Amino acid sequence: QAEWQGVNQFAFYTDEMDQRMIERQTLETALRSALDRGEIRVAYQAQVNLADESLCGIEALLRWESPQLGSVSPERFIPLAEEIGLIGELGELAFRFACNQVADWDRVGFRVPRLSVNLSIHELEQGGFVERIARALARSGIDPSRVELEVTESVLMSQTGDARAALSAIREMGMRLAIDDFGTGYSALAYLKRLPVQRLKIDRSFVKDLGRDLNDESITRAIIGLGRTLGLAVLAEGVETREQAVFLSREGCQEAQGYLFGRPMGAAELARRWAPRRDRGGSVRR
Ligand code: C2E
Ligand code: MG
Ligand code: MG
Ligand code: MG
Repeated sequence: QAEWQGVNQFAFYTDEMDQRMIERQTLETALRSALDRGEIRVAYQAQVNLADESLCGIEALLRWESPQLGSVSPERFIPLAEEIGLIGELGELAFRFACNQVADWDRVGFRVPRLSVNLSIHELEQGGFVERIARALARSGIDPSRVELEVTESVLMSQTGDARAALSAIREMGMRLAIDDFGTGYSALAYLKRLPVQRLKIDRSFVKDLGRDLNDESITRAIIGLGRTLGLAVLAEGVETREQAVFLSREGCQEAQGYLFGRPMGAAELARRWAPRRDRGGSVRR
């Protein structure tokens, strides 16, 4: 009886492993051709000043709409891209598309104060990374000081020589750095003041239960205080409710991003929502 069950279980696990390998293989094959086929786009999410809910920046977020697989989350395809060596191309695409979009908007009078683009450690460690983004930035013509790159704590902590050099080059070009998902990593706090970072983005896992969970409220308050002490700007991620926005604003958090202010959306939609409208009299209204 036991033996029989064992055999069955083995077969079950093998099937499941096969299934997972097939899925991964399918995903990998699809991702490899997605770039050439133009299936990868960039969505933009507003970042707002909490004081008046004006637009202070946008975050560029990769989107993949596959004809066979439907829309695939970046949580799935970014790690895969890192694994199979495609993240350089994907990251460059996000950066280039976003810079060009901001430049296009400049030309029609919609001035986005800041552009944030996510960066993975694998990109930083790739040869030629700095040259590629420098070229894309120069071609777009937008000022480097308007561009912020988001990295996670683990990226900042586990810096290899190449990554460290790339981060310094980013700073020398005049771009800024933000720590994404702050609080979920393992930063030694003393490190913070030595890192070339200008902004902390409070991870949405702490924001989610503001108003309900005292621990999350304490952590959030502490991060805001830390930012203030170290002279770093603080932005809260994943703000979905008015209650959360009020709490954050009252605690001195300057900026926020989340579904309350808008989901990630296509460029045209973002402009419709946020660009100043000129009526016939030439005056600007929102
Ligand atoms: P992230 O950089 O922390 O981006 C924020 C994520 O939270 C986005 O998920 C966004 O859609 C989501 N989000 C924003 N507001 C809310 C909210 O109010 N509630 C909830 N529940 N979620 C919210 P998304 O677009 O699925 O991206 C996931 C992650 O994929 C990003 O996390 C980032 O780490 C990575 N990613 C996306 N684009 C790029 C890219 O161009 N390069 C790299 N290296 N990573 C990227
Ligand atoms: Mg981010
Ligand atoms: Mg984040
Ligand atoms: Mg993230």
